[in-house]
Amino acid sequence: MPSVNDILRQKSSSLITTDPYATVLQAVQTMNRNRVGAVLVMDADNDLVGIFTERDVLTRVVARELDPRSTPVHEVMTTDVLACSLETDLDDIAEIMKGRRIRHVPVRDGHDQLVGMISIGDVNAYHVMAKQATIENMTDYICGRG
Ligand code: AMP
Repeated sequence: MPSVNDILRQKSSSLITTDPYATVLQAVQTMNRNRVGAVLVMDADNDLVGIFTERDVLTRVVARELDPRSTPVHEVMTTDVLACSLETDLDDIAEIMKGRRIRHVPVRDGHDQLVGMISIGDVNAYHVMAKQATIENMTDYICGRG
């Protein structure tokens, strides 16, 4: 069974983070610069204290007419962050994302260290790639190749 680790191995392992006192504007600039839809919020001790995503920009900043230049991330982030481990089964994480309507899940290793983030886009891309490989194998088998 494929696991979260199978996806992370194919991705750059850098974590995109911000601090709780960064403004929403700064967090959005960090997301845009790194072409991601979420940032992990880390405190001064490098502990994970929240997650802030593009959905939060829409529902907690724009819709409430807050000023992104003066609103700190800690006021609009989600604090109860769901994380998974490297061994988590991909199908399980896809179900959790669907059930909780979240598209980003940080990943911890066996030492409880954050080692990456997977998104629903990563999971979908992996499934497409795996299905493509199955189709090619079956085509080769049917056509008597390989
Ligand atoms: P998303 O669909 O990932 O953009 O996020 C939808 C909502 O769920 C936003 O309020 C996020 O802050 C929150 N969220 C996203 N990922 C997580 C996570 N791993 N744990 C908890 N909340 C999350």
